[in-house]
Amino acid sequence: MDEKLITVTSPLLPSLDDFLPYLQDIWDRKWLTNNGHYHQELEKALCEYLKVPYISLFTNGTLPLMCALQALRITGEVITTPFSFVATTHSLWWNGIKPVFVDIDPDTCNIDPAKIEAAITPRTTAIMPVHVYGKPCDTERIQEIADKYGLKVIYDAAHAFGVEVDGKSILEAGDMSTLSFHATKVYNTIEGGALVCHDEKVKRRIDYLKNFGFAGETTIVAPGINGKMDEVRSAYGLLNLKQVDTAIEGRRQVAIKYREALRNVEGVGFMEDMLGVRHNYSYFPIFIDAEKYGMTRDELYSRMKGRQVLGRRYFYPLISEFPTYRGLESASPDNLPVAHKVADSVICLPMHHDLDTGAINRVINLIVR
Ligand SMILES: *Cc1c(COP(=O)(O)O)cnc(C)c1O
Repeated sequence: MDEKLITVTSPLLPSLDDFLPYLQDIWDRKWLTNNGHYHQELEKALCEYLKVPYISLFTNGTLPLMCALQALRITGEVITTPFSFVATTHSLWWNGIKPVFVDIDPDTCNIDPAKIEAAITPRTTAIMPVHVYGKPCDTERIQEIADKYGLKVIYDAAHAFGVEVDGKSILEAGDMSTLSFHATKVYNTIEGGALVCHDEKVKRRIDYLKNFGFAGETTIVAPGINGKMDEVRSAYGLLNLKQVDTAIEGRRQVAIKYREALRNVEGVGFMEDMLGVRHNYSYFPIFIDAEKYGMTRDELYSRMKGRQVLGRRYFYPLISEFPTYRGLESASPDNLPVAHKVADSVICLPMHHDLDTGAINRVINLIVR
């Protein structure tokens, strides 16, 4: 029997019928990029949706990380997590900053605040945590440490679109937060991203930085880069914003079914919702204890693949294992035992807004044994 491929994600797409009038309007305006009409509309709409005062749109989710470091003039060493997508650490490297890896908390998979202080040196200028899988970091504890040592905090919130804690946006934490609107994320503009800050002057500087440093026709205030989002993707983003709540609810229903089915499977762990948190269900990671489950993570991963069900081992290998970084002292596995354990046991199950019951059951039946 031919089984239909079940992918780990599926992009949220606006209907083409809805999109065409926007394209017609962009064609009529003949203003394609550089803070155009739809770019301004999308910034406004996102500020409202995300409950933040200032947002700067970017052409992807990596450039805001790089520009955040530039905007805050971060140098020297930055404390970060090895359990993330490589772009987090690459942004430091591209700024000539030395990443210092700190181990993660086994319950949240986020940087372990209890281990941050030991990694601080006189060269440390900032902390760059990641809200992995959209689970909020311990932002209070991290801020206490940052305040004590005079460090900046930049959150890579690429997974945390729409996440709220006690009714407040997670993007309020720290000095700045970055988002990715890549096609695979909960909310997408095909490629895209944003930088969230709390101050009008800072937003202005970010907007200069993403446009080569131009502050006027002939004024260059900083060695900026080109990170601008265009009108076509801004319009697409406006349409997708209208359906993102429905998509997140769809994901929540998938998570409920997965949890129900996996609750009593020995050797398979998963994450529960956190009290007071509005989650976005961006990923559904499971953690395999090979001894108890009777099969290793990689055996299960291959078994799923063989049956046309694509999981993803996010995040394996750890960033600290890649050639660029593995020579760093902090990249030593002895320094990162929890991160290694999690990286060796995780599989993210297929998770998106239009995963139907048949597909969900096929995934579940491959895991329940
Ligand atoms: C996706 C992602 C990025 C990079 O975003 P792009 O839009 O692909 O450039 C950065 N950090 C994390 C944690 C991500 O998952």
